[in-house]
Amino acid sequence: MNPEQILSKAEKALGEGLCDHCLGRLFAQLGHGLTNDERGKTLRIMYAMLYSEKERTPVPEEPDDCSLCGNLFDDIKTIADHVIQDVEKLEFETFLVGSRLDPEIEEREEQLWAKLDIKHSEPIKSEVNREIGKLVDAGLAQEVDLEKPDIKCIVDTRFYTVDIEISPLFIYGRYRKLSREIPQTKWDCRYCQGVGCDHCDGKGKLYETSVEEIIGEPLLVITEGSGFTLHGMGREDIDALMLGDGRPFVMEIKEPVKRRIDFERLIEEVEKDDIVGISNLEYVTKDKVEEVKSARSDKSYRVKVLFEGSVEGGKLKKVLQSLRGAELSQKTPNRVSHRRADLIRKRKIKDIWAEEHHGESADIYLECEAGTYVKEFIHGDEGRTVPNLSDELGVKCQVQHLDVIEVHY
Ligand SMILES: [Zn+2]
Ligand SMILES: [Zn+2]
Repeated sequence: MNPEQILSKAEKALGEGLCDHCLGRLFAQLGHGLTNDERGKTLRIMYAMLYSEKERTPVPEEPDDCSLCGNLFDDIKTIADHVIQDVEKLEFETFLVGSRLDPEIEEREEQLWAKLDIKHSEPIKSEVNREIGKLVDAGLAQEVDLEKPDIKCIVDTRFYTVDIEISPLFIYGRYRKLSREIPQTKWDCRYCQGVGCDHCDGKGKLYETSVEEIIGEPLLVITEGSGFTLHGMGREDIDALMLGDGRPFVMEIKEPVKRRIDFERLIEEVEKDDIVGISNLEYVTKDKVEEVKSARSDKSYRVKVLFEGSVEGGKLKKVLQSLRGAELSQKTPNRVSHRRADLIRKRKIKDIWAEEHHGESADIYLECEAGTYVKEFIHGDEGRTVPNLSDELGVKCQVQHLDVIEVHY
């Protein structure tokens, strides 16, 4: 637009009875670092100066009642104070303001754009959000974040109400499981789906507790959140221990009032019964959930194996040596085949050795690729896993227990 065009549009707009905000907003895309309010005031002055060549023209005044917004911008400070009051009790570092306006205002605005052939405007909603955001920012010294705010404040400018959406908090860590009696996550009772019934003694769950609950419950107390979910990098069987540096996980806390956690205190709380240990704690974003859940990590195991009959030490050593580096063909095991399609998995045994060998039992240590069916490799699963330890030794092997000693991540 050339200066004449701008001025001619401004002259028409001045006849519409708009406040400085609404007048200036029609030209919102012209000039950087200005508020719409400043644009409006400037247009009035420009108009008066440029039309003063022949006769002295006074600066056109702002009307008492804006025909577009009904002086909504006079209330911005009050609305921002409401927001500040409502969020003050929350802990957050970033926020975003959104708004619901009277739909009639937005309609009037569109009609005005059409009538004046306006192309450089912005919607009133953006200005309202921005202006409230600035005041909240100044009042609380927190930052606006358009992508991933800790909290979202949705203001309804008709009723002066504020809805607050608190984003979940995500904490990464690694857990160790030192009990053969608890699952990784809470298992709802299948009869009552968690409500509580005779089958579950009114508890609503199948197991007394879980890794998820042991970590999540103290976190819920600390954060005053409304719920939690543990996202693990795979899972171990209930009767397997998770040792070594632990298994990576991300804990999601819903609607936390507090977002700053004393990790030392949390660790103490989680570890007080010696069932679960946690370490490597850090704050992460939601993306980490996907990363942890989709990671394919090699694992190391310790398997307590019982032999049906005595196995001589030299023989065990030789067999294990021959299995080092072997590629297994694993048909979907009998124990899971009702849930999964019958496929053949190829997985590699990267390393394998024995300790604590006493004729009829040994601790077998092995490192293998993600997704290896370890128990099946030991007992053979009726020939569904080839090669397997039972066949190679020529002695039936039974897994007494299996522990994960490392997740290589
Ligand atoms: Zn207005
Ligand atoms: Zn039940």
